[in-house]
Amino acid sequence: MAADRLPPEVLAVLARLEEAGEEGWLVGGCVRDRLLGRPVHDYDIAVSCPPARTAALFSGHELVLAGAAHGTVGVVAGGRLLELTTFRADGAYRDRRHPEQVAFLPDIDGDLARRDFTVNAMAMDRRGRLRDPYGGRKDLEARLLRAVGEPERRFSEDALRILRLARFAAKLGFSVEGETLAAALRLRRETAALSAERITAEVAGFVDGEYFSRAAGEMLGLFAGVWPALAEVPSEMLAAFARAEEPDSRLLLMARAASPGDWPAAVAAFCRRLRLPRSRERLLDEAARRLALPPSEDPPEVRRRACRFGDEATRLAFAVDRALGGPRQPEAALYERFCRTGLPRSVRELAVTGADLLAAGVPEGPAVGTLLARLLEAVIDGQCENTRPALLDRVRQEETRYG
Ligand code: ATP
Ligand code: MG
Repeated sequence: MAADRLPPEVLAVLARLEEAGEEGWLVGGCVRDRLLGRPVHDYDIAVSCPPARTAALFSGHELVLAGAAHGTVGVVAGGRLLELTTFRADGAYRDRRHPEQVAFLPDIDGDLARRDFTVNAMAMDRRGRLRDPYGGRKDLEARLLRAVGEPERRFSEDALRILRLARFAAKLGFSVEGETLAAALRLRRETAALSAERITAEVAGFVDGEYFSRAAGEMLGLFAGVWPALAEVPSEMLAAFARAEEPDSRLLLMARAASPGDWPAAVAAFCRRLRLPRSRERLLDEAARRLALPPSEDPPEVRRRACRFGDEATRLAFAVDRALGGPRQPEAALYERFCRTGLPRSVRELAVTGADLLAAGVPEGPAVGTLLARLLEAVIDGQCENTRPALLDRVRQEETRYG
């Protein structure tokens, strides 16, 4: 691993530390990902000096001091934020309602000992020399996730590591060493006490993993502390996970496997343990409602559903149905054919707007929306062309018809 391929600002920070008689080591994900030849998104640096001295050494830079009590000083260099953290033991009991405690340590090896998996517990200096007391390099070559130290103890210290294990398996495509997996499964109940924010971050990373399809079968069970039904996922459902191609389909399948009840209820129950962004939760809910409808092979009905649910939720619902080997594929084909007609699928695509209706004398209020929806239906059913004159004509007819 050529050290000269490190970004210049990272090299400069490491050199500055050395000049000042301090140690600076790249640690964690950046070392792992560099050795794997994967893109590195952030560089974490472990340093020998306490935070006040780190801040003083880099006083010429913009600094982020919010994490200083835990040893972390953010240094903005070359447009990126580098986090410099004093060698430390862990505030391990984070999510188990114990106060967070941090002890600073004299050397890098102590700092590596607190880390979760051997491939995450390597350090590299600016010349590319590796510090690897737990055999991370060898595990990286064997594509193996193994707890640092005794797995049972490490997972009881911090149950988040159980979900991190699933996330890294899906992200890296590594297998999990036997003892590590057995301990994670034994202790999975402890994850119930984790905060919704932490669970969300790990679940989101898990379903986003490049190797999700391969990992899901073995890893879903690690989430059974949060959603007990995931302890035993039926084999036909596992096959669906292996076929699901995007994160949102995978989330919907997790919801389905996690809860009995109909689709909308399952998704609502699943989301209660998470803090997903509103827009994503809404999309999952819409897709669940779409999946709750009985399959249809009636073209007008398929067109009306397309207008009611919108493209994103409709496509997502069909993708989930496809993964499940479900009964909606003829309907999906009718929907695709409808999309190719170029007919509008939302009132926004009509050749008239609400303002046009008001100008044509429709009273302000809910009548405008109702009328737009009716016009859309008339257009997709072929009773009216999507042009301004035709639509305004239709408005006048409707007025005489309904008064
Ligand atoms: P990613 O590329 O997904 O960010 P990462 O390895 O950088 O992966 P982070 O969550 O950013 O993961 O954590 C950085 C490093 O801190 C990890 O590599 C690991 O060494 C250590 N670490 C983070 N969280 C924990 C934890 N809960 N228990 C033990 N070590 C942890
Ligand atoms: Mg990271």
